Amino acid sequence: MSVDNNKLENSNFASLGLAPELLKALEESGYTTPTPIQSQAIPLVLQGRDLMAGAQTGTGKTAAFALPILQKLLPFASSSASPARHPVRALILTPTRELAIQVEESVRTYAKHVPLRSLVVFGGVDIKTQTPTLRTGIEVLVATPGRLLDHVEQRTVQLNQVQILVLDEADRMLDMGFMPDLKRILALLPKQRQNLMFSATFSNDIKRLADDFLTNPILVEVARSNAAAENVEQKIYRVAQHDKHAVLAQILRDNGDSQALVFTKTKLTTARLARQLQREGIAADAIHGDKTQLERMQALEAFKQGKITALIATDVAARGLDIDQLPMVINYELSSAPEDYVHRIGRTGRAGASGIAISLVSPEEEKYLKEIEKLIKREIAKQDAIVPEKEARAPRGSSRASVKEDREEKESKPRGHTARSSSPKKKSGDDWFDKPYVPTGNIPAPDQSGRTSSKPKGEVAALLGGLRRQS
Ligand code: AMP
Repeated sequence: MSVDNNKLENSNFASLGLAPELLKALEESGYTTPTPIQSQAIPLVLQGRDLMAGAQTGTGKTAAFALPILQKLLPFASSSASPARHPVRALILTPTRELAIQVEESVRTYAKHVPLRSLVVFGGVDIKTQTPTLRTGIEVLVATPGRLLDHVEQRTVQLNQVQILVLDEADRMLDMGFMPDLKRILALLPKQRQNLMFSATFSNDIKRLADDFLTNPILVEVARSNAAAENVEQKIYRVAQHDKHAVLAQILRDNGDSQALVFTKTKLTTARLARQLQREGIAADAIHGDKTQLERMQALEAFKQGKITALIATDVAARGLDIDQLPMVINYELSSAPEDYVHRIGRTGRAGASGIAISLVSPEEEKYLKEIEKLIKREIAKQDAIVPEKEARAPRGSSRASVKEDREEKESKPRGHTARSSSPKKKSGDDWFDKPYVPTGNIPAPDQSGRTSSKPKGEVAALLGGLRRQS
């Protein structure tokens, strides 16, 4: 069964049946109009239905499950200090730490006027820092699967009163091999519960997972299955692997102060590329699984604050990143999994804004490109990249168009190079790994509970009127 989108036009949050406490928090967040996934999902979750929701990050999917969950838990809110009065009633599982942190931040924002407690637990930080808050009792737990099982083993959490389970970015959880962990967790939950599954793509594995754990689900979708975001302009630049770096650097220069998220296939390439770009005076940093949680959060925060212009990331590290108004995604390398392409370009063009996604494709990667085009059922515009000559690359500001088609237009535009980065690093030593980027600003570190402070919101709210609804 699926939802009739036409009946959901022009809804507002109050008409979705949300409680005044939640409406107040939404108003304070500057949200005036529900996004399509929110209009569709909120009433269904309130009715207690299981959901299979096709929506990627950037569509407002977090509020689509967080708001009705909080509303359903309102009758259980208790001011008692006794942990027994605050059992885990809603469990939200996410594939990555970054997404877990963001989801819990949202839950906390919406629960501002509601006496319900939330907490995020994820790996990569000392488990002991999470235990005291867990012991005080919390109603909404956001967790990555591995760390949740660690807590179960240490008996610091009980899951026998979970009424609602959310699998967020379920496709990525499967990609990351979390199926065995998920099965173990599902076995610990009461059989009688509501299940909500969110996924950007619908592979056969996802459909099987949905069959296994959802009961008579309703399908809600805000984008066609496996479709790439409509408002993202996609381009392919054909270029030999060894020339990719020069072309990337040129694109970044031509892009001026505007920020870009750059995807690579491996942690090693991510680190190397960031270092190379830094040496060339481009404010870049890397985010990948080998960095500590604090380093990852610092790099992400510096990026969000605009202190770095190019964030180089692996798929795993970038999963679920919520960066308002990110104008450009660059695929430095294509992933062998075509679904990753959809996820990657979904980082831009969010909440109705427009974005651009450029993929640098070597001859060896043409096979991946074919798979991607098959998945998104669309051909992407292709052009040959022009590799900047070496001597033309050295002085910053001597921009050469990196792509034939763009040349004339770009050459006539003023460049914004100077404002975008610190001066180039002079030394050639390889101490980059020992000296992670340390921003000068106020970077939130996890406190005892693993919580971070709320991030400032961009102008997303203003853009949501522009969101397109599709069936
Ligand atoms: P999500 O898809 O849940 O990661 O949300 C994407 C972004 O949209 C986040 O920054 C949210 O804070 C924001 N957002 C979610 N719902 C709304 C809404 N109804 N109005 C304005 N902004 C929203």
